[in-house]
Amino acid sequence: MPIDATQPYDDNNIFAKILRREIPSNPVYEDEWAYAFEDINPQAAIHTLVIPKGRYVSWDDFSATASAEEIAGFIRAVGHVAREKGLVEPGYRLLANIGAHGHQEVPHLHVHLFGGHPLGPMLA
Ligand code: 5GP
Repeated sequence: MPIDATQPYDDNNIFAKILRREIPSNPVYEDEWAYAFEDINPQAAIHTLVIPKGRYVSWDDFSATASAEEIAGFIRAVGHVAREKGLVEPGYRLLANIGAHGHQEVPHLHVHLFGGHPLGPMLA
């Protein structure tokens, strides 16, 4: 079910539990600002999720309220994961779903990183 991106942060969402290591995930990268892990239901040969460590529902509250340090740290972590995965050449896709029309299902900000083969045109 898509979420309402304006809802308050829910500490019991599945990615909060993954961050607290209460449920398992396949780790890819971690630093002070971000955690990256493999999507449980991959939509491409490489489908990695990158989440900030802070309590943000979506790109909306993150972009509006996170500190410049958190934003920079998170964006740098996403780029680092792409480089570590060897995706920069031949390329990859980043995606963040936001709220109901964006079909966001998990209410903790996450960036999808897709790659490993030609992805075709972006479908709205
Ligand atoms: P959204 O639609 O919110 O942008 O995407 C949520 C993503 O989280 C989906 O691609 C889904 O497969 C993934 N996902 C949902 N639950 C889990 C989980 O428990 N573990 C992992 N690794 N991925 C999950």
